[in-house]
Amino acid sequence: MSAGTRVLVLNAGSSSVKYQLIDMLDGARLAAGLAERVGEPGGRLVHTPRDGARREALRPFEDHAAALEAVAAELAADGLGLDSPELAAIGHRVVHGGRRFTAPTLITDEVLAEVRRLVPVAPLHNPANITGIEVARRLRPDLPQVAVFDTAFHATLPEYAARYAIDRAVADEHRVRRYGFHGTSHQYVSRAAAALLGKEPAEVNVIVLHLGNGASASAVAGGVCVETSMGLTPLEGLVMGTRSGDVDPGVVFHLHRVGGLTIDEIDALLNRRSGLLGLCGDNDMREILRRRGEGDADAALAFDAYVHRLRKYLGAYYAVLGRVDAVVFTAGVGENAAPVREAVCAGLEGLGIVVDTELNAVRSGDPRIVSPAYARVAVAVVPTDEELEIARQAFALVHTAED
Ligand code: AMP
Repeated sequence: MSAGTRVLVLNAGSSSVKYQLIDMLDGARLAAGLAERVGEPGGRLVHTPRDGARREALRPFEDHAAALEAVAAELAADGLGLDSPELAAIGHRVVHGGRRFTAPTLITDEVLAEVRRLVPVAPLHNPANITGIEVARRLRPDLPQVAVFDTAFHATLPEYAARYAIDRAVADEHRVRRYGFHGTSHQYVSRAAAALLGKEPAEVNVIVLHLGNGASASAVAGGVCVETSMGLTPLEGLVMGTRSGDVDPGVVFHLHRVGGLTIDEIDALLNRRSGLLGLCGDNDMREILRRRGEGDADAALAFDAYVHRLRKYLGAYYAVLGRVDAVVFTAGVGENAAPVREAVCAGLEGLGIVVDTELNAVRSGDPRIVSPAYARVAVAVVPTDEELEIARQAFALVHTAED
């Protein structure tokens, strides 16, 4: 068995590479960083070692290979290079695992080919993930590399929740179904919430609200995901920073036939110019809260639409689960925006959901309960940690494979 205890987590996006080197003995971040504007002008690498000062360098990256090589060089400069015997595995975030990948998977040529076959259902994400994997394998061909899929936690959705009510043959031919995303976060947060309640995941039903720039909700029954708000793509569901979430599909036909917009224009509209941004011109909740506080009507509308959608999902998932032990807020907005948490839970005492104003106002990086002790349902804030979850899953897989 490899003596290594460290896992390098790589999250390769379309123009960036995020990374963390984590020691699985104690979960310590030995280094973290971000290479951005890959393949664009103005490339930049920010590297923060645990035992040292943050280093920032402006430098162009021709492609992902150049960016990953620069990352490897930064790690080596701290004595944490990819050739270190302490490195046990590289864990890759892969957005779409389709129906095949429902668990962390050791990457082989065959696995990579299958991830490539899924590009048509994740055209924005899987290509960058694949490049990250290819480059990392080139740099360390002997090291186990593990893919951890954003869709995997949602593979347990019952068929009636995963299927759209459309012709089954057409849906199957084009692999159209609800896959869900942010799964690594929903998994991590739902388990951490159980721990916060002093219970095993199997003992509790939780609703997780992952509210970042992208946003999704999930209903997790006894540790098993039974419903989630994103679908074939990460566009369905909640109002997000720049994505519309749910719209009548007829809107697409109307904008095309009557509005004269092309399919690509509608795609860009719904994914990049909608959501909070489309409603008020800002997609950052901090700015929206500030403007709303100054009486700005557009910001107030955006906030109300965001909260209203969340409340509809909260009510729906309450009904899906039947009994709810915790409602858990996570990611940038969920962890930081007390007014959003308060508004989402307002007036739901009848469902056992109550927020304690004072507890909710406390700023902290720790998992915490913000509902009063008497409330039937715990309202919790749990900072998400997708990198740690990816590292854990990759490490566990490498060890099981070797045992
Ligand atoms: P994420 O995608 O999880 O990094 O979340 C990013 C989003 O979190 C930003 O676009 C902001 O809207 C939101 N956010 C971050 N910090 C705060 C804060 N202190 N208050 C309100 N929203 C915040």
